[in-house]
Amino acid sequence: MTADLRDGGPVSGRDWDRAVELISSADEIALACHVSPDGDALGSTLAVGLALRAAGKRVTASFGERRFRVPRLLRFLPGQELLAEPADYPAAPEVMITFDVPTVGRLGTLTDTTCKARELIVVDHHPSNTGFGTVNLVDPGAAATAVLAEELIDRLGLPIDQAIATCLYVGLVTDTGSFKHSSTTPEVHAMAARLVATGLNTEEIARELWDRSPFGYLKVLGAVLDRVRLEPEVGGGLVWTYVTRADRAAYGLPYDEVEGIIDVVRRTDEADVTAVLKEDDDGAWQVSTRSKGGVDVSRVCAALGGGGHAKAAGFTSHLPLEETIASLRALL
Ligand code: AMP
Ligand code: MN
Ligand code: MN
Repeated sequence: MTADLRDGGPVSGRDWDRAVELISSADEIALACHVSPDGDALGSTLAVGLALRAAGKRVTASFGERRFRVPRLLRFLPGQELLAEPADYPAAPEVMITFDVPTVGRLGTLTDTTCKARELIVVDHHPSNTGFGTVNLVDPGAAATAVLAEELIDRLGLPIDQAIATCLYVGLVTDTGSFKHSSTTPEVHAMAARLVATGLNTEEIARELWDRSPFGYLKVLGAVLDRVRLEPEVGGGLVWTYVTRADRAAYGLPYDEVEGIIDVVRRTDEADVTAVLKEDDDGAWQVSTRSKGGVDVSRVCAALGGGGHAKAAGFTSHLPLEETIASLRALL
């Protein structure tokens, strides 16, 4: 998967033109984002889906999970009606577009569909993107895939209404950590201004994203923080904790409810690197990592079979908890 790594520049005019041509001439378009979708993945997918549907295209959108479930905090996004279970996804789409997907494997059960699609347009901002499309709209300098999704909609000559703007804004605000990360350029603020000007209720969006956790979340958070460990000698300092299936089951929390825990743990000033190990419903450890800049966690996670960005990356481990954290520790 590393043989055809892209050289990492912005997207060429030729690639944009080719994508616009392919999409404009297709009747049916299949959209997909990565498994366990975040705000950027699903927001970008639904934004383009809504724009294409308004342009008269038949649109199907999905992500490749065996237990297909839209994360609770993304159910307020407009365009849910475009979503189909992977079983109902077109077997051989005329044009397939992927969002926020750096490697085909991150498409889960939709991975094989990429081989059957006649044209595959890849819209992404991961530096590790392998360029697996027939057209690759990949810009590692973009703060979010939503930035590229917005440009695609513009280049298609389609309008951005309030529903589409909501989806794009959610991608932008989640991937920039509410405009806190170093990726937050003047262009990012300009894009936000344009989106908000469509009439977005940013207070309501923020509440949906961050202030609607069930009460059980606080109890699980309490348990998870109680067992947090600081290892100042590892890398530039490592702070880590874990959340098991049993922790979640005790309060009936689905997996996606615990994804935000890392944002609390990473506040630790004594640590450059944060890791939260989350046991999923299949018993695998989904490991989220963050760095404040001393360590490139995408390299560390890539070495463990995952990937991501320099300051936010992850990997999946089928080893026991202690061995999983040991494998991470060894690379820091
Ligand atoms: P998360 O910690 O889930 O917010 O993910 C942070 C970054 O790491 C995102 O860019 C993800 O695409 C990437 N990432 C997370 N988990 C994995 C994984 N199991 N395999 C590859 N990349 C991952
Ligand atoms: Mn993502
Ligand atoms: Mn993203």
